Amino acid sequence: MGRRKIYHARLMYARPFIDSLDFATNGREISGEVQFSEMPRLLDILENPQGSFKYTIQGGTDSQGTNFLAISVDGQCSLRCQRCLNKMGYPLRLDTRLFLRDQTSLDALGDDDEEFDSILADMQLSVLDLLEEEILLSLPIAPKHEFSACQAAVDENAHGQEKKPFAALAKMKRN
Ligand SMILES: [Zn+2]
Repeated sequence: MGRRKIYHARLMYARPFIDSLDFATNGREISGEVQFSEMPRLLDILENPQGSFKYTIQGGTDSQGTNFLAISVDGQCSLRCQRCLNKMGYPLRLDTRLFLRDQTSLDALGDDDEEFDSILADMQLSVLDLLEEEILLSLPIAPKHEFSACQAAVDENAHGQEKKPFAALAKMKRN
């Protein structure tokens, strides 16, 4: 048990943390590559744990004086098609900004009144947790193959006439 604890602590240590406000005001940048297997919440959604993505986080201050983190992510993951339940490749591309706010101004913000989302200006922001959260928010809720490439569509065609009502229903659901 003792050994296991030490190993776990070491793993945690390897995860990068940033002081987000310092990071923004000094225009710092961090980049790297992350294995999907390091992101437990994401693993629940992915079709398999293989693969990785590259990321860059760049701090800055906009013309209004608002501090932000610009996040970009580039990779390829596999989701499960919600129509045929087979694997589907999904390009993981994010290019977004998050404004940094203190708790008071976060509380004062209304919903959806800004171009970008805001997060708490945390002095110990976990880079991987932040990336995982942003990726989760960006993924489609019900991913589906293009209809022509979906196994469910192939099955419908193979069954011919009697399945037509279902084909029509599937079409309606797409729109
Ligand atoms: Zn499918």
